Amino acid sequence: MAPERRGWWQSPWTALGALALGAVCGFALNPSGPIAGTVPGFVSGTLATADLVASIFLRLLKMLVAPLVLFSLVAGVASIADPRRLGRLGARTFAYYMVTSLLAVLTGLVLVNLIGPGRGARLQMAEHPGTLPGGAIGLREMIVGLVPDNIFGALARLDMLPIITFSLLLGFALTRLDPERRNVLTRLFDAGFHLFTRLALMVLSLLPIAVFALILRVAARAELRVFGDLALYVLTVALALVIHAVITLPIVARLAAGVRPVRWAGAIAPALLTAFSTSSSSATLPVTLETAEERGGVGNRTASFVLPLGATINMDGTALYECVATIFLAQYYASSAGYELTLTRQLIVVVTALLASIGAAGIPSAGLVMMTIILTALDLPLEGALLLLAVDRPLDMMRTTVNVWSDSIGAALMHRLEEGAPPVPRVSDA
Ligand code: ASP
Repeated sequence: MAPERRGWWQSPWTALGALALGAVCGFALNPSGPIAGTVPGFVSGTLATADLVASIFLRLLKMLVAPLVLFSLVAGVASIADPRRLGRLGARTFAYYMVTSLLAVLTGLVLVNLIGPGRGARLQMAEHPGTLPGGAIGLREMIVGLVPDNIFGALARLDMLPIITFSLLLGFALTRLDPERRNVLTRLFDAGFHLFTRLALMVLSLLPIAVFALILRVAARAELRVFGDLALYVLTVALALVIHAVITLPIVARLAAGVRPVRWAGAIAPALLTAFSTSSSSATLPVTLETAEERGGVGNRTASFVLPLGATINMDGTALYECVATIFLAQYYASSAGYELTLTRQLIVVVTALLASIGAAGIPSAGLVMMTIILTALDLPLEGALLLLAVDRPLDMMRTTVNVWSDSIGAALMHRLEEGAPPVPRVSDA
């Protein structure tokens, strides 16, 4: 793709500045902030404008997700025509996703056991009636749901897993065509992929404004009061996420993928900032693809295969969060109601947290909904998940950033394994 001239507006530093400014303005407008009661018209007007800007940006991103996944995966699979190479890349990608997610879960497991935020916690469970968005999820539906019964329906609903299954199958069928038809279609899908990436680039120019609006509305509506009772829990999740993001994953980036972690983070910073502001790996996917390729130097073939898969099934941050959150609740029930948090049950958490993170959609609060699988497996009431809803947003922002960070390192690693050399970031603001 033709190189773009990038001014200060396109720099991640600008978006980071917008993020900080959005947070300051948002907290100032918060009901417990300084401006709150004084100029109500101003507060509601500002919030309405921020909502408008944020909604438009989110819709622009979401508009790109289904076509990008379809075109990028079909083009990716078709370009690796050799089934053995494809199988190898698929297996390696999957192995990376599983290993890093497992490391994340184990980090969470160790910290939640060491800190024990649930032991003796004061949680007024019965005061949180209501239903979770999306309801409880069963494992069986999750497996059957991998296969679309109607691809147009799946595309319309943005059901990522069935879209991925369909795209992989379509790409594979394409490689089985006679050479003439195969060439035409491969070029068509490749050109389509570039077209949507170009469109993503245009949407991306709105990033600073969008980040400002997204963060402002979150900060303005944050229920700061609720954090008191859950502070230790929030801190445990945050600390575990930070350890995974700044120690474990950078070691993988350095040793396995051969990229310098800080430089790599600088290259894909726009994707990290988008993940943080939107709490959605799927909505961030257009930005992740664009930045990994254009700024990070990951090969087109690798990025278009690895990243759509990653945005859907690789969620280190979510896996870690599931583990800490459910053990937190189990600790609470252990100290208040004689529940036994045995070693077997901790093992169940590790396995189901991994599965739940694979099954979680890349949308806000998906991790919280998937927690119902683990709570059911542990014989714990689902009510606990509702309680955690109150503090989910900031944790969601953090875990989504970790999810995308891990995807990008996976792309760098697969690039190295495929091309024999690490990707060379072309632009890095670090
Ligand atoms: N919001 C997360 C993501 O999109 C999923 C989750 O809720 O953990 O990656």
